[in-house]
Amino acid sequence: MSVTPETLASTLEEIALLLELKGENPFKTRAYRNGADIIRDFDGDIVQRAKDNDLKGIKGIGEALQDKLHELASTGKLVYHIELKNEFPDTLFELFELQGLGPKKIKALWDELGIASIGGLRRACEDGKIASLKGFGKKSVEKILAAIETRERFSGRYRLAEAASAAEPLRDYLRQHPDVHQLEICGSYRRGKETVHDIDFLVATDKPADLTAYFVAYESSIETIVHGETKASIRLGNGLQCDLRAVSNQQFPFALQYFTGSKEHNVAMRSLARQRGWSLNEYDFTPLGDSSDPIPEITTEADIYASLGLTFVHPALRENKGELEAADQGTLPDLITQENLRGTFHNHTTESDGRNTLRQMAEAAIELGLSYLGISDHSKASFQANGLDEARLLKQLEAIRELNEELEGAIHLFAGSEVDILRDGSLDFCDEILEQLDFTVASVHNAFSLSEAEQTERVIKALQHPHVTMLGHSTGRLLLRREPYPIDLGAVIEAAAETNTIIELNCASKRMDMDWRHWHRARDKGVLCSINPDAHTVEGLQALHFGVRVAQKGWLRRRDVFNTRSLEEVRTFLATPKAERGELSQAALR
Ligand SMILES: [Zn+2]
Ligand SMILES: [Zn+2]
Repeated sequence: MSVTPETLASTLEEIALLLELKGENPFKTRAYRNGADIIRDFDGDIVQRAKDNDLKGIKGIGEALQDKLHELASTGKLVYHIELKNEFPDTLFELFELQGLGPKKIKALWDELGIASIGGLRRACEDGKIASLKGFGKKSVEKILAAIETRERFSGRYRLAEAASAAEPLRDYLRQHPDVHQLEICGSYRRGKETVHDIDFLVATDKPADLTAYFVAYESSIETIVHGETKASIRLGNGLQCDLRAVSNQQFPFALQYFTGSKEHNVAMRSLARQRGWSLNEYDFTPLGDSSDPIPEITTEADIYASLGLTFVHPALRENKGELEAADQGTLPDLITQENLRGTFHNHTTESDGRNTLRQMAEAAIELGLSYLGISDHSKASFQANGLDEARLLKQLEAIRELNEELEGAIHLFAGSEVDILRDGSLDFCDEILEQLDFTVASVHNAFSLSEAEQTERVIKALQHPHVTMLGHSTGRLLLRREPYPIDLGAVIEAAAETNTIIELNCASKRMDMDWRHWHRARDKGVLCSINPDAHTVEGLQALHFGVRVAQKGWLRRRDVFNTRSLEEVRTFLATPKAERGELSQAALR
């Protein structure tokens, strides 16, 4: 396998973990972890430089790291890493995937009880061995068991962005084959689901066997699971399973519709077909009897919908949540597109826990073609994220004003704050500070264990604040890692509508919060959405792409999304007192 910057970074990170397990001194572990960060942020071909042994002078990469990176980049492996790993059983690394278990606790479990796998940990929890271990207790046992359960529920699933970074290069690879006439990724990936468990490729070709052979020969495949004449399955390095199905040009629209799903959508489609006397499957329509309607010619997926009297249903909407009724009545929404976005909010810089400076973030946004960018670093209660106090915030405000003068015409920066909603629903900054900002994103970052009623009340209190422009990541979920905290989103949506508060669609790949299932209702209540990447790096801004896909899934149109508005419109909106924004919130775009 070829070495990428990510190989270098994750190897260093793994070494840091292993050293922690061995109880090595913290400075040494930190050096590896910092090294990993530096590599991820490095502007240039770090792999080539490591190969050439040309890493001198990069701040934070000392001599010991230089040698190791050189070895790893030039040979594809690192003896030091392998030897360290051999000191521990392989299964020990599973434990790091459990929420709430850090290296210190894992080391204690390993040292004291010899626990080296999730199975072993579960048994020890059930036997009462953990509860009596120093530093653990009954509460920790409950937490560990809950974390094991969560991991099992999520295992084998991948976040959309993760899946994309594995699937898109494979799509490009397939596209290069001269006998591919048509090519699509189907399944939940095409429907824009926030997580997927495999990727379904579909090709139209006259030479299916050539295609399946070509597919299993893909260089990043680590395992061939199936290799047939028209079907093949492989597994990629990150564990993701990819399936290929090869069909004829004629079958392609049917297979595309069928394999895109969802199952529920397809059940409803088949019953519509039956009403015309046809059976619908992945290859064609077939007449069910003599009284069947004549079968029209089908060359595209849209023809299938049209033949059933429906307008084309965008893949994002195919969840059997009212889309077929709307397609029948011609009332499907004109969904937002990538090109509609004009700017975005909720971005971090090095002032709090971001990895890029204000200027770098601004330049990256210009490169993406955005005309405005909202900066909102953390507030002081988020001390773990290096949150800003009043003085630092006002200084940043000054810096943003200056940069705005310099970048006038290229981009406009809005100065904001991701202000913590404190436990009682009050905010982390006083009004005199907040009113100097262009906008605020109010977010919950602690006390996740409040009851649903308390959490809901806390958030609604924040929404009622005249200086809260938008609500950040409304349930705190981390996809595949942390469940949402209990909160009554129906009541939150209601309150957002009443108070003219925007709700963000936080599209950081690990969040996708608020969930797409709630947006249709929010939209119908007149709540505006802001698609925000919560970017902590310049690359983080790319998440907007996935945010649009999830917004489509939530039935959102251009006019429902705040950051499709022009800079002038946004300025006017933010300059209007919140209580008077009602009409501006509802106003359809010209
Ligand atoms: Zn946050
Ligand atoms: Zn944030």
